[in-house]
Amino acid sequence: MSGSLASRKAPEAPRAPEAPRAPEAPRAPEAPVIRILRDDVARKIAAGEVIDRPLSIVRELLDNSIDAGASSIDVFLEGGGISRVRVVDDGVGMAREDLKLCGKPHATSKIESEDDLLKVTSLGFRGEALSSVAVASRLEIVSARSEPGGTSIAHRLLVRGGKLLSLEECPGKGGTSVDVSELFYNYPARRKFLRGVSTESAMCRSMFVDRALPHPSIAFRLFSEGELRLSLPPSTLRERVALSYGQLLVAGLLRESTVEGEGFTVRMVAGLPELRRRDRKLMQAFVNRRRVWEFSLIQAAEYAFSGHVPGGYHPVAFVFVEVDPALVDFNIHPAKKEVRFRNLPDVHRAVVAAGRKLLAIQDRVAPKPVATAPERELSLPAAPTERAPLADGREPPARAGLGAEEPRIRFLGQVFGVFLAFELPDRLLLLDQHAAHEKIIFERLAGREPAPQEMLFPLSFDVSNEEDERIARAIGELRSLGMVLRRTGARTWELTALSEDFLTLTEGDLLEMLRAAGQGGEGWRRDLLARAACRLAIKEGDPVDPVTARELCAKALGLESPRCPHGRPIWHEMSREELYRLVDRPVGEPAT
Ligand code: ADP
Ligand code: MG
Repeated sequence: MSGSLASRKAPEAPRAPEAPRAPEAPRAPEAPVIRILRDDVARKIAAGEVIDRPLSIVRELLDNSIDAGASSIDVFLEGGGISRVRVVDDGVGMAREDLKLCGKPHATSKIESEDDLLKVTSLGFRGEALSSVAVASRLEIVSARSEPGGTSIAHRLLVRGGKLLSLEECPGKGGTSVDVSELFYNYPARRKFLRGVSTESAMCRSMFVDRALPHPSIAFRLFSEGELRLSLPPSTLRERVALSYGQLLVAGLLRESTVEGEGFTVRMVAGLPELRRRDRKLMQAFVNRRRVWEFSLIQAAEYAFSGHVPGGYHPVAFVFVEVDPALVDFNIHPAKKEVRFRNLPDVHRAVVAAGRKLLAIQDRVAPKPVATAPERELSLPAAPTERAPLADGREPPARAGLGAEEPRIRFLGQVFGVFLAFELPDRLLLLDQHAAHEKIIFERLAGREPAPQEMLFPLSFDVSNEEDERIARAIGELRSLGMVLRRTGARTWELTALSEDFLTLTEGDLLEMLRAAGQGGEGWRRDLLARAACRLAIKEGDPVDPVTARELCAKALGLESPRCPHGRPIWHEMSREELYRLVDRPVGEPAT
């Protein structure tokens, strides 16, 4: 590994998750860094995946920019990547000699000998990507070594159909820009297998997210047709996960845990069980910052959540394993999507432990996962603690920020898993915990300014002629509620952006609501908010901690109408007089 480009600039190592990096010997800076692998080494390497569509180009170019120690990477797509893919980074760059070699088969700076395969921490190592791109397109690379003084000489390499057309000096700054166009101009058969622009574009975007996710210290931006589509600034791992799947996740609903094993570390970022999904789209595993399709890791995460997520649902869980390269083999799959662990049972156990740990942290915040919903809705402190009653049984003064003005509310406990019992100065109050919370959320949703977030996977649906017209008319109102729709054909629509308040609605719910909007009338608006509120609210049987309970009570008492969105009363109360009367006690007589 002494020839690693990354060793030249000593780029900032990704903050999280961090790869265990082997110490590298310094090289003389003027030596050419790219070499052609010897035949015997090249033969040990699984044949690299052919470049079959734009997403493979995005993948390989991103890998190279990450390996080059870039701190900021921009991807530009035109025509879904079919017309052009351009990736610009501020990594170590290449000198003239490197550029001349980089597009040749088995040209790499990342490994030299077979032994290096055991130590490789870079994403690439086969030296095949650029050469495969070069034979099937027009490839233009402008690159300059990032020199300490900021002075750098850039060179432009132009290759078409594998033929070197030119290599000349040009203006430029440290880093590399790779521009791939005229894809498959000389491979008409491969061109035929390309899908439509929007499909290819969506595939490129998923690949972009897969690569950006485990590298949160690098800034990534995705542009399509000149427009910025996704911007991921440097952040923590948890924020990166939340931002990458913005329409589905909010950082506040994600937790993180780490478990160390022998020669490896498991980090998990997972959603509270209320973020459960019908599919496993948001159960993903990464090994040494590569997304892998290793089902046993997904299964381990699922196992950790069993009992917290009901049958038929799956948790949201991103598993990041950082493992000593000697303990894994990526060289078994052309696209490195599969990995062979030497210690799979240990890693499996650690993933389960990471999941359990995460749920335990969660349990400390509130006894059961869903009961933290009030934390978000009622903006409670992260770890509510009970204010111990004073020795004489009186409540201590309310903490600052929790409303010193509120009536004196004493939380007595939960009854039948459904009611929260409170003593107020003049009455006993039994609050239906779900109905009360639901109504509080409903009021908030009805009065808010929604901020719809673009969906990664737009939801398309067909409607009847009549519904089509109504949806077209309701489009403005739907938007004001936080749902952005786009017509994709006669009687077909796509939901392209959604407010985060609706993220707990299932696809089925959303389609039903949109159809209802298409039926016209007034009721659908209320139904939509009511259903979203219902999904966000704490449920019957969820334990509720005392601080949350009191705040719930104070907010419920402040409601204009004490009925849930479905019209049911949200509490039952009994005055002191009524209670006294029930036991024939004269009012005013001191308790004995
Ligand atoms: P590999 O990544 O497996 O080494 P590639 O064909 O992808 O093979 O790239 C060949 C070589 O070109 C790399 O080893 C690296 O030295 C150089 N290279 C490619 N892209 C970049 C880049 N964005 N910045 C700096 N060097 C690069
Ligand atoms: Mg590469």
